[in-house]
Amino acid sequence: MSTGLSRYGVEAPTVVRAPTTDADGLKICPECGAPIGGTLGTQRIAHPTIRDDLEADELVTHGYRCNRHPSWVVLPSHPNELPDGWASVEIDLADGRSRPVPVPQAEVGTA
Ligand SMILES: [Zn+2]
Repeated sequence: MSTGLSRYGVEAPTVVRAPTTDADGLKICPECGAPIGGTLGTQRIAHPTIRDDLEADELVTHGYRCNRHPSWVVLPSHPNELPDGWASVEIDLADGRSRPVPVPQAEVGTA
C-alpha cells in the first residue's frame, strides 16, 4: 500500500505506544525497556490513526517521548491523569491496540 506521504515530503508516522512500568514502578519505554523519565510534556503525533470521527495530519498530545530510537516514539499519558482543558481521542497504537490519548480541547473543538 502506498500512503503517498513522500509526495508531500512528510515524515513517517509517529510510533505511539502506551507507557509501561517495570518492577520498581518506573515508567519505561515498551519499545526498548529504557526508563523514560524526564521528557514528560507536550508531544506531537504525526499521521495518527484516529478512531473517533476526526481527521488530523498531526495531533498534539501530552506524555513522554523516548529518544533512543531513530523514529519518533511517543508514549502518551492517560487522559485521566490530566487536568481540565484536555480532551480524549482514541487512536490506534503501534502494537495494534487502541487507546484514548489526551489532546488539548482547543485542538478538537470541544472546548
Ligand atoms: Zn524506547
